[in-house]
This record gives sequence, C-alpha cells and structure tokens, in this order.
Amino acid sequence: MIKQILFLILFIPTIILRGQIINHSDTLDILNYNLNLDIDISGQTIQGIAQITAISQVDNLTYFPLDLQGLTVDSVFINDTICNFLYNDTLLHILPSHVYHLTDTVLLSVYYHGHPGIDPSGWGGFYFSGTTAYNLGVGFQDIPHNYGRVWFPCLDDFNDRATYDFHITTADNLVAVCNGTLIETINNGNGTKTWHWILHQSIPSYLASVAVSNYVLVPDTFYGMQDTIPIGIYVASGDSAQAVASFANLKQILAGYEQYFGPYQWERIGYVGVPFNSGAMEHATNIAYPAVVIDGTSSYEYLYAHELSHHWFGNYLTCASAEDMWINEGWAVFAEAFYHEFLYDKATYLSYIMNIHANAIHMAQYDDGGIYPLYPMPQNVTYGTTTYQKGASVVHTLRNYLGDSLFFDAVRAYVSNFALTNVSSYDLRNFLTAYTGVDMTDFFNSWVFSPGYPHFSVDSFSVVPNGGNFDVTVFIRQRLRDRTNFTNSNRTEVTFSDDSWHFQTETVNFSGEFGQATFSLNFNPTHAYMDLENKICDARTSDSKVISNAATIPFHNTYLTLYVNQISDSAFLQVTHNWIAPDTFKQEIPGLYLTDKRYWKVEGILPNTFNITARFLYSKATTGSYAYLDNGFLTSPDSLVLLYRRNSADDWQITNAYKQGTSTNGYLTLDTIMIGEYAFGIWNRTITIREKMPEDTKPIKIFPNPSNTGFYFQQQKKSVTNFKIFNASGKQIFSGQIIGEDSYLWQPDVPGLYLVSFFDSKGKIITKKQVLATE
Ligand SMILES: [Zn+2]
Repeated sequence: MIKQILFLILFIPTIILRGQIINHSDTLDILNYNLNLDIDISGQTIQGIAQITAISQVDNLTYFPLDLQGLTVDSVFINDTICNFLYNDTLLHILPSHVYHLTDTVLLSVYYHGHPGIDPSGWGGFYFSGTTAYNLGVGFQDIPHNYGRVWFPCLDDFNDRATYDFHITTADNLVAVCNGTLIETINNGNGTKTWHWILHQSIPSYLASVAVSNYVLVPDTFYGMQDTIPIGIYVASGDSAQAVASFANLKQILAGYEQYFGPYQWERIGYVGVPFNSGAMEHATNIAYPAVVIDGTSSYEYLYAHELSHHWFGNYLTCASAEDMWINEGWAVFAEAFYHEFLYDKATYLSYIMNIHANAIHMAQYDDGGIYPLYPMPQNVTYGTTTYQKGASVVHTLRNYLGDSLFFDAVRAYVSNFALTNVSSYDLRNFLTAYTGVDMTDFFNSWVFSPGYPHFSVDSFSVVPNGGNFDVTVFIRQRLRDRTNFTNSNRTEVTFSDDSWHFQTETVNFSGEFGQATFSLNFNPTHAYMDLENKICDARTSDSKVISNAATIPFHNTYLTLYVNQISDSAFLQVTHNWIAPDTFKQEIPGLYLTDKRYWKVEGILPNTFNITARFLYSKATTGSYAYLDNGFLTSPDSLVLLYRRNSADDWQITNAYKQGTSTNGYLTLDTIMIGEYAFGIWNRTITIREKMPEDTKPIKIFPNPSNTGFYFQQQKKSVTNFKIFNASGKQIFSGQIIGEDSYLWQPDVPGLYLVSFFDSKGKIITKKQVLATE
C-alpha cells in the first residue's frame, strides 16, 4: 500500500499492543472463507456468518484459534454442531467436543455482528462514510498489522492463505465489490441485494476486501501474456469518464510488468474508489483506491502502478513476517519507479529512483526515529521510509549488481518460484544465489541485514603510458555511514575521461576498505568519476550534466546550483553530494572546524574560459526538503565558511565564498567553480588571530587579480618558495620559484581561472590562491 508520510510522523510514536502475537497458522491451515455478511451502512454495523474450512496442522488439537477483534460472537458451530467458545474481544477459541488430529478437516461457522473498528493510527480497518462502507486490510499501528480480524474471524497473519467466497447483502440501490469474480447478484425482494464474489486464488487475510457504495463498473479487457483478463474499475456513478482518463496507461503498465516480472496471475484487474484520502491498499484484484485522485488526470499514475505491482510483490508472493516488509513494499516502490522506464524513458526512471534514494538517506532516520536495517524491521516502523524507500533503492542497487538480463530473469523466476506462498529476506537471498550463481551473501549482509550505507569514492588514479595506450590504476575507497563493517564483493563503476571528451567506463570489483584495478585506455585520462550512471545507492547522491550555454543548472539531490554566466565551450560536470564526513585537515588550523555531516565533489571537464558561480546550500531547518542538513554543526552561521581542496592529496583551504541567507538556511556562493571537493567549515576567527603566525605562512601577495596582463607573485621573506599552477580542470600547467623578495611575473597563455599552490623548500604547502586571467 501507499500512505502519506504525515500519518507515520503523527502516529508512530505510541504503540498500542492489542492481542497476542501468535502464529496460529502453525496450528491451523484455512483453505476457504465463505463470508455471508449483511452490511448496514446507516447503522454502521455488519452481521453474518463466517464459514471457515480448515485443516488441523497438529495432533490432539483441543481448540481452534481464530483472530477476531472488537465484534460480538453470537454462536459457533463445528460441522453443523453447535459448540462452546471463548472470546476475549481479540482471540476466539472454538472448543470442540473431541480432539482433532493432523489433517482433520472441519467447517467452522461463526455467527457474529457488531461495529467493526479502525486502527489507532487512522490508517486501516473498516470504514463507514456517507453511503459507502469499505475496509483497508492493514493497520499501521496495531500489531499484528494484518487487519482481516476487524471484520471477520480469521488467521490474521502473512502466512495463512485461503480462497474466498463473499455473499454481501446490502440495500438494493448499492453495489458490493469484493476480491475475485462477480458470480451472481440476487435480488432478495425485500429492498436488499446479495452480491456473490469468488476469489479462486489464495491470499492472506489482510488482502481480503469489500467495498459497498453506489458504484458503476468501468469495464475493460487486458490481453495478457497468458490470458485475457477482465479489468473492472468501480467508481461513483458520474465518475466513469474520469476513471477512463486517469487509468489511461493501465494496460501499458500491465504489459510492462508482465514483460519484466512475468505473467499477471489473477482472475481480474480491479480498483474500487473509496472516500479515503491518505493512500491506497492493494487488496488482491480489488485495490482500494482514493476516489479523490480518480480526477481525469494522470497525476496519480504512480499510485495505481504501485498497487498493481503488489500483484507480483506482496500479493502473489508475500513477506514471511512484518519484519520482512521490504519484500512487499520496497519492491512495489521499485516497480512504481521502474514503470517510468518502459512507459517513458530510462532517464525518468533514474530521476525517480534517485529522488527516492536521496529522501531515504536524508530522512529515513528522522521519519522512522532510528536507523534500521531493511531486515529485521521493528514493528513500530514496518510501514516506514526505510522499508519503502531504502527498500526500493536497494532493489535498484541489486538490479545493477546483477545486470538487467540476469536480474529480470531472476525476478521472473523468483515470482514464479514463490507463487502464492511466503518469502523471507533469507529466502530471497538464497534463491538469488542459487538461480544466478552469484553468491549474494555479502550483498545481503550489507544492503539488507545492516543499517546505514557504504560510501564509495575514487581516491586517486595514476597513469603509465604503454605503447600507444595508457595503463590507468584507480584506487577506490570505501567509507561507512551509520555502520561498522565494510561491504565485501563490491562492484563499482568508474568512468575515465580526458579533456577531449573521451570516456570509458570500467568495473572495479573489490572487498573491504580499499580497492584498486588497472585498465588499459586508448586515451590519457585526466578525470575519474565514481558511478556516473548512479547504479549504486550508497551514501552519495550525484548528478551529471553537459553544460553548453549560459543557464542556471541545478544538480539534483546535491544542494548545489551552478549559475553559468558565460562559457566558451561545453563543460561536463558530475556533482556528488557525499552523506558522510569529509577527510579531516592534514594540518589543523586553529579555530577552523570541518563539518562531520557532508561534503561535495565536483569532477569533470571545463573549457578554457568560463564564468560559473556556484551556490552551496546550508540549512539547519527541521522540516521540509532541506531539513537536518547541517544541524548540530551549524551553530553559528556567521562563522560558516566554504572550504576547498583539489583532491585527497591536498589540504582544505578557506575560499572567499560569501553567505546569503539567514541563521537557519541560505547559501554560500563561490564566484568561480573549480574541480575538487568542497565542505562547510566553522571558522572562529578570534582563535586564529590570537595564534602567532609562523614564518612560512606569512602572506604571499598576488597582484593584480583579475588581470589580463599577468600576475606578480611577491613574498616578504628571503627564502625560496616553489609554486605550481593548475588550470580549472585540475591539470598542472606550470611550475616555478619565487626567490627571496624578488617578484615573479607569470603570464598565462590562455584566459581562465587558475589555482596557484605555494610550497616551502621541504615541499609543504604554504598557501593556495585562485587567479582569474581575463581576455
Ligand atoms: Zn504498497
């Protein structure tokens, strides 16, 4: 299902535990429920008989345990013989006159009535609203979350699957819609009608459904891979045209899901509009769908695609426990992202899944009130951001880990293999290992069974010419966010480029903290990009762009925007927002503190001349999309500075970026972007000033700057200072010496932005400065 996050924030903190968490399906296997129910909408009550065909799973069974919550039991029969029962408002124990044995089959008939309830969270249960009654089969807060028991006696867990007959009697001007196929409608001649539905395939109790209202049917047909399948969308009379328009792409989405996940295996494709505005529920073949979003637009296409995908992930195979909920919901959110790829294009999918990943790594710990592995998920956050969004990002990572061909083969086999049964996280791991031949132990240990994230980066690379080619050795580094163990059996893509727009992508396989690999390239690379195509949802969010014109360029999910004022030729830039602490100072500067939250990396090709301003967002908001970025660190925004280093071999230096914004949020703006890393620092200037400045850090003057005639470098000491000059792409283009108090005049060949690094005689960096050579 899908819910609105708001409800989680409001209602998760208090957990009311009703009933006992007992897996009754160890005792009993229910084959069929035959629910004969009168639904009185004006009286807000239900009344009827549940006839339950069950098989004993044990010897010497002395009672039949069922879940039933908050209703009244009138009488109970076993095989037409009235019997005793115990009912405590939550558990119904049916007491036979003799013990039953393994494989004995019984028909239990429970006569009951009452006003069915809703979940304390406000999400799930049985609702009466105007002329409509409907159920939502999951209670977010109640435990177990399965919510069949609020409207019929059942085994309310994920494991017991049964087929269903529904005989729903209601006022004859209304329509009752249930799972499966409508078999007949009986006019009782007393102002009521009885609607008989049969669901031939087995489902757990939380997927059983009923909705009663003044519905009309919007029928259609899907010519599927294996069968011709009726589509039945029930909406309020008058909403038919809007339903046709809103569900315009339903059949294309079905066809895509069949192609990638395997045939649709249910007897009907069904939605029913309900007056519920906080999400939808994937009841098998009868999805409860908010009527308000059947509005004639495609704005909520993702929502019906998500619920539809549960007919592969969740309904057809079902999580073995609430702690495995990502098996249902993580995969459904992945499918909700993935349909964009086959219905629209790959870029739309990637953008969608990257937004999900960005929100998961940014917000899950706040939404869920903690940092959890996908499995085992605590029951108070079963339906939280980690389950849904991190779950989807891990499926995306899995997809790329295996590659599309093997991944989708394996998914189809997985769905088929676990048809109409349950799957634990371990079952999925073991199945994938056996099916693909790829040992998934390390992948699952990291991505499913551990909290937090690994973080991958290119630390450095070296190039050795080899004949006409170049042997490049790249060094990969793994760091950790909210976890303690390094991930093994990693597969990371590194793309190399030179400044002439040659690109080559290679895969580095490694385990542990460091990895390296050597590749032969037919060009001399000057840049190395980690995971340019965003195949891994690690502790990075990144975006890359080709920039050809003056424009405002937001790099999505990075909190960095470039303002391209002028550019002489195209640029290619990858901006990475790293959700971990930057490397610390090689040499501490008194009073200057580095953030431990995040840093940026800008990598890529810049032309000879450009004028690109960069705006780095800071925020210590506690709500909204900029929440919690710098909280804790950003105590005094007036002291906020932007630090820069060219690469991991360098040390951080303070840039001249200036602040625009409030004490809570705003931007540090840098006049000219350079290739390298950026991080926020807090600079307590009073501490720095009190320190005695060492000889080597006496200022070196550069003037004039900017200049179109060259730059003078001048120092106030008698020793020799070496310097190196780098262009904006980070390539060293010149080196020289300032001897004593003589000025050195450097005249660049081409206009552009340059970085000048000054070193003492021992090679230690004294300072770095940017110069801008104008036309
Ligand atoms: Zn869902």
